[in-house]
This record gives sequence, structure tokens and C-alpha cells, in this order.
Amino acid sequence: MSSVVEPRTFAAPKIRQTGILIGDEFRSSVSGKTFATVNPATEEVICQVAEGDAADVDLAVRAARAAFETGPWSRMDGRDRGRLMNKLADLAEKHLDELAALETLDNGKPINDARAADLPLAIDCLRYYAGWADKIKGDTVPIRGDYFCYTRREPIGVCGQIIPWNFPLLMVAWKWGPALATGNTIVIKPAEQTPLSCLRMAELALEAGFPPGVINVVPGFGPTAGAALVAHPQVDKIAFTGEGTTAKIIMREAADTLKRLTFELGGKSPNIVFADADLDAAIAGAEFGLFFNQGQCCCAGSRLFVEESVHDEFVEKLIRRTRQRVLGNPFDTETQQGPQVDQAQFDKIMGYIDRGQAQGANCVTGGQRFGNRGYFIEPTVFTNVHDQMDIAREEIFGPVLSILKFKDVAEVTQRANNTCYGLAAAVWTRDVQKAHQMAHALRAGTVWVNCYDVFDAAAPFGGFKMSGIGRELGEAGLANYTELKTVTMAMPPR
Ligand code: ADP
Repeated sequence: MSSVVEPRTFAAPKIRQTGILIGDEFRSSVSGKTFATVNPATEEVICQVAEGDAADVDLAVRAARAAFETGPWSRMDGRDRGRLMNKLADLAEKHLDELAALETLDNGKPINDARAADLPLAIDCLRYYAGWADKIKGDTVPIRGDYFCYTRREPIGVCGQIIPWNFPLLMVAWKWGPALATGNTIVIKPAEQTPLSCLRMAELALEAGFPPGVINVVPGFGPTAGAALVAHPQVDKIAFTGEGTTAKIIMREAADTLKRLTFELGGKSPNIVFADADLDAAIAGAEFGLFFNQGQCCCAGSRLFVEESVHDEFVEKLIRRTRQRVLGNPFDTETQQGPQVDQAQFDKIMGYIDRGQAQGANCVTGGQRFGNRGYFIEPTVFTNVHDQMDIAREEIFGPVLSILKFKDVAEVTQRANNTCYGLAAAVWTRDVQKAHQMAHALRAGTVWVNCYDVFDAAAPFGGFKMSGIGRELGEAGLANYTELKTVTMAMPPR
């Protein structure tokens, strides 16, 4: 007997919070202004959200400052901070379907991805860092002379966090986890395209019992709200994830107040397939490594290097797989690919597709808009791509894969590293020695071997070169949120 599995469609969630969170109150903006957030699958306005600018940022920073200096947070034991973080993780888990649906509504990502990736990873990240909250410690240092010397790791203070729209809630968790575990307070600015899940998560944080002012949320635009956060003298640190061009502006603007800065930026990650690889696994990895999240991943494997002797067979099978991808309503559990996040991204990606063709690459599948409503783009594959073409050099941040042919290890290593980026790379081979040689030779913060996009809260992530400064996740992520203090006490002999 055969059973028919009905496609299941999730409902759009109720929108609960659209205000600016300062202390424990969701409010209108000081200016009274709002902005629209749009459903990228339908191009319809979801709702209006309070538009924060410098005045709202100032109020939020004051609330965060007060919570840091004098509030219960500053006196709380690490273990109790950890308990609150675990409570928030539990609440996020309880509301998993609602939060996942908010992501799908605001960002357009398939509900399956939001439920199976974004939410579980975000919850896991909070729990991982909750475990660190009572384990932040210094050293005793044996210095010369009659002294007792030790170090302490203290919170930096008020942390400004500016995040993008591709993984809205996961970026919240990556930013909040280490900041809260180490006792900082937060003013976060979600991306203007996707403010809703961050606001709901902040509401859950209040429900969990975080003291007012520990987490403040100012939705708004980069050049206004974001810039005000960067310039504010009472903000001690900025953690930013987004484009390199924005990071350069932030670095300049932060110079006056010498803020601590950590950046997680773009990439043009090489995904390298050797002829001795398990080709079926590599094909699946190439598809996932690029098309996951509509290609909107900073670590997308957008330069696919395939060894000459298997190139044609590999390309043929990959095209077949790519054509089978299911595009459509992101609330449908059958959907694998949703729309791009907004019109600007859609236009930018279509521009790259045009340039790829104009510069002589072969568009072997895709290349068009999908449907006539929403910012959908067909999964697109280019062959005959050369290193100097725009589609091989610049970050497209969309479902556009460039395939490049190579002959040997030395050549592919040189070409893979010939980029201003260094976020991630992958190697597919059955030769263990080659795998480690490549892993060491590639100038990237993460190298995956025979896998792609494997993330874990315990594994550090970040970029070499123009892909970033500092590392997120893991123990390394904690270092970005503490100041190291050395205490030296005279101990004259009695
Ligand atoms: P993307 O192309 O992914 O939107 P951006 O770097 O433009 O990348 O945006 C990432 C985040 O940075 C968003 O929250 C955005 O509002 C913010 N942002 C943009 N410009 C600035 C700026 N000048 N100062 C501070 N934040 C900014």
C-alpha cells in the first residue's frame, strides 16, 4: 500500500513586537517614524516597524550603560547569567515554530530550513555559551619578586551589535551568546529587511527574566541607527556582520572613540573537487554549499573548482540536480529555495548573471527570474568561468554558481588563494595527505574536508584577509567580549 505524503504548509505567524526595546519597554521611535518590512515571497508589506535613529540609540545605550554599571546584571554570578541564558534557549525552543515562521515571513527562507537549521543552531549557540558563563577565568602569573599577580577576564561594557538579514535569528544568537556569558550589556540593531525575529526574541528574553537594559533593540537603517551606535561614546565595542564596504565605514567612524571592533564579512569561497573524491557526495556538497539559503551565505562555495579529468561528468550531474531544486512558497515544506531577500539583492544578482554572460561564461542552467511575484531567481550555473571574470571574483550573494576547471594541486591552491577574501574553503578528496596539505595551504578561517557548511557553536568561525577580524563561536568567541585585567599585589616577606 502506498501512502501519499501531503505537502504541509505552515501559517504566517502573528506579529507581536514592532517597537524599539529600551530597558523593558517596547516603544515608538522618538521621531515617530516607522519603516515597512516586506515579505520577499509576495512583495507585500508585512507591517510597519519603529524606525530608530540617533535619539533612540542614545536612549538604548543609556539603558544598557545603567544595566552594566548599576543594575542587578553587574552583580549577578556567572552561573545565574547562564541560567537565564538557558531559560531563553528553552523559551526559543518552546516557540520554535513561531520563530521559524517569522524568519520565513520576513526573510523568505524555506520553513524547513528555518526549523531544521536556523532555530536549532541558534538555540544550541545560546546553550553552549550559557555553559561558559561560570567558567570565565583568569590565571595566576608567576612574576619576579615578592608579588602575587593574577589576571581577570572582565566584560567590556556596552556592546553594539549590527547584524545582517541572511540568518536573522542565528546572528542574534552568535552575538548575544558570548556577550551575555561574559556579563556585557547589549544594544543590537537588526537588519532593516528582517527586524521581526530579533524583536520577538528580545521579548522572550524579558520573559526569561533578563534584567531591563541588558538587551536593547533598535531597529532602523544602517547610515542612521547603525552609524549612531558606532559613533556613540558610551558604546565600548562594535560587533558587525555584513559587507566589507560597510565594515570600512564602521572602522573609520569608530576611530574617534577607539572602539573594539570585530567583523565577520564576505567571501568568495573556493570549493575544490579532486578527481579522486566521492563524486556523488561532492556534487551534493557543491549544490548545498552554494544554493543553501538562496545563496545568501557569506561562506557560500561560489567558486567551484573541478579537476579536469572529471569536470564534464561532474558538471552534467550537478546541472541535473540543480534543475530538480524546488522553488516556491517558502511556507511549503516541499520548497527548497525561496526568494532573495529584497529588490536590491534581486537586481544585484541579475546584474551579475548578465555580466557573466557578457564576459563569456556559459550559463548552462537558470539565469532567469522565477515566476512573476516575489524576488525569486532560478538556480543558476555558469561553466567556462575564468578567474578574472566578475562572477569569479566578486561576492554575488545569490543562487549563482561559477565552475572553474583545474589541473593539479599547485595550480588550484594558487588560484583558490588569489582573492582578497579568506572566509571558508572546502576540499573533496579520498587522499588523506592531500586533504591535510590543502587544509593547511588554503588561506581561509574555515576549511571543510568532504563536507560543506558544517557549523557548530563550539567551532570558531571567521575570516582571514578581508573576510573579517576576530572569530565568532567557540572559546575564541569569548575573547572578543572580555577585557583582560592584570592585578599585581605586593607580598613583602614577613
Ligand atoms: P547587506 O548587503 O548584507 O545588507 P550591509 O553591510 O549593508 O550588508 O548591512 C549589514 C548591517 O549593517 C545592517 O544591519 C545594516 O543596516 C548595517 N549598516 C549598513 N550601513 C551601515 C553604516 N554606515 N553604519 C552602521 N551600520 C550599517
